[in-house]
Amino acid sequence: MKQADCPFCKIADRRIETELLHDDDVCVAFNDLEPQAPTHILVIPKKHIASLDTATGGDKDVIAHLLLTAAEIARKRGFAENGYRIVVNCNADGGQTVFHLHVHMLAGRRMVFPPG
Ligand code: 5GP
Ligand code: ZN
Repeated sequence: MKQADCPFCKIADRRIETELLHDDDVCVAFNDLEPQAPTHILVIPKKHIASLDTATGGDKDVIAHLLLTAAEIARKRGFAENGYRIVVNCNADGGQTVFHLHVHMLAGRRMVFPPG
């Protein structure tokens, strides 16, 4: 189900113009508006899922697809060998600000752990 006022549904539906780096039946990917690394790409499902917390067993193929797509994008852009970071923020303490599930793929610099 789409949410009329969800910003990432608008990007997935092409109601907001955003350059898509990847587009398939299940997900799209695009550059983050406020990149936290030289490369910072968001991979989102076309289906509206508010967060990892609201995802269900019926979403497991979608979630696997998001992760594999992020890995494919990283590989195609030459980051696989040096590495990259995948982040999924969940709810307030996790730092989630957009409530449409998304996978961050950050690359191009050395990451630190634990994140802040
Ligand atoms: P969160 O904090 O929910 O894990 O991540 C949301 C991310 O979405 C943030 O990194 C933020 O910069 C990015 N973002 C929010 N609104 C937009 C938008 O309209 N377009 C793009 N490209 N990125 C957005
Ligand atoms: Zn949405």
